[in-house]
Amino acid sequence: MKAEIISVGTELLLGQTVDTNAAHIARSLAGLGFSLYRKTTVGDNRARLATVVREALERADVVITSGGLGPTEDDLTKETVAEVLGIHLVESPEVLSDIEGFFASRGTRMTANNRKQALVPEPSSGTFFRNAVGTAPAVVFESGKKRVICLPGVPREMAYLINSGVEPYLRAYLTRNGAGEVIVSRIIRTIGIGEASLEERILDLACEGVNPTVAIYASEGECQIRVTACAREEKEAWMLIEPVERELEARLGRSIYGYDDDTLEGVVARRLISAGARLSVAESCTGGLICGMLTGVPGSSSFLERGIVTYSNSAKRDELGVDESTLRVHGAVSRETAVEMACGVVRTARADLGLSVTGIAGPGGGSADKPVGLVYFCLADTEKTSVITARMMFGGDRRSVRTRACKFGLDLLRRHLEDAWT
Ligand code: ATP
Ligand code: MG
Repeated sequence: MKAEIISVGTELLLGQTVDTNAAHIARSLAGLGFSLYRKTTVGDNRARLATVVREALERADVVITSGGLGPTEDDLTKETVAEVLGIHLVESPEVLSDIEGFFASRGTRMTANNRKQALVPEPSSGTFFRNAVGTAPAVVFESGKKRVICLPGVPREMAYLINSGVEPYLRAYLTRNGAGEVIVSRIIRTIGIGEASLEERILDLACEGVNPTVAIYASEGECQIRVTACAREEKEAWMLIEPVERELEARLGRSIYGYDDDTLEGVVARRLISAGARLSVAESCTGGLICGMLTGVPGSSSFLERGIVTYSNSAKRDELGVDESTLRVHGAVSRETAVEMACGVVRTARADLGLSVTGIAGPGGGSADKPVGLVYFCLADTEKTSVITARMMFGGDRRSVRTRACKFGLDLLRRHLEDAWT
């Protein structure tokens, strides 16, 4: 079964909005077993949209559009698809009452143009999925074996409708048409090994044309390995992935921090919560980013005692008790200062763990013996009476150095929790 995606919106063409919907829809289609051959982006223009829909329908069985289902004049996806297929739109009383309810619950008045969002294909030629998180329903046009599915552009609404309506619908569609290989992927998230050395270690698993396929993607400070299998049934596909996953685990060990949607901060948070450990953080060059990441995890109040940004020497001295002579002799960016920062914050916070970061993010401020990208870390553990330090050289610009420093600091914490707190 062939599928295509059409992203509708002039803002996408102008580069003002990044087309994340197409990526989301593509993953969903791959999971269902569709072969996705093309993605097209087109502006809010009736004639050009009609052409793109017509062409896609010549090639594909299923076409999914996103965007242009809103109430305004330039929202014309539904109307255009209806015209291309010669299908009438009718007002759905069910959807209309959903929309009225949506406005009522917010205490605002529904305007007349919202009414057009209640238009759906006539029942003999399609169906629709109600939208519990917005006003535009998803609509499905059915023309022989071909399907055109129109989704709203708002990412949250699109995702909700894919999940609740489109995927079940397409699964049934595939079964009825006796087709469909399932493609499933497992993402293995690693940190602490560079892309090149990771590739070297797993090269033999990553050859082309095998099932499952193994691919490496690098992003700042971490690498992901995607294992993708294709089979008649989902269970069978997972069985193909299983031994490869075990092999990767055997080879990469603790460099693996998580799977699929895991985040490093989420994993660290989980470990801190299950250990019952309280954390305090003292940040210099990362300026609070580590605390920002940790507090992005729901429930962070149960493990994060405090985070202090001590940017200046005087802040390091006043807030954390870093010794004047340490700063003078070794400098703010030094192992010695990192140790006193971590010990200082853990003491003032009366926490179990104190993490500190001090470094040179650049572009200025570097010297021959302390170049841009040099970052020191310390993790002080009062419970286990241990002090771990690390010295790292990160490449890239200011943003990149800071991101990498955050991830390294969190990973230091993760590894220590795995070692000492389990
Ligand atoms: P609405 O009912 O809100 O008008 P719509 O179906 O008409 O929704 P658009 O007007 O095209 O959708 O887009 C609504 C919002 O969703 C905009 O903020 C837009 O930037 C965003 N958006 C639209 N298409 C995409 C896309 N492909 N990827 C990510 N965001 C998108
Ligand atoms: Mg719109």
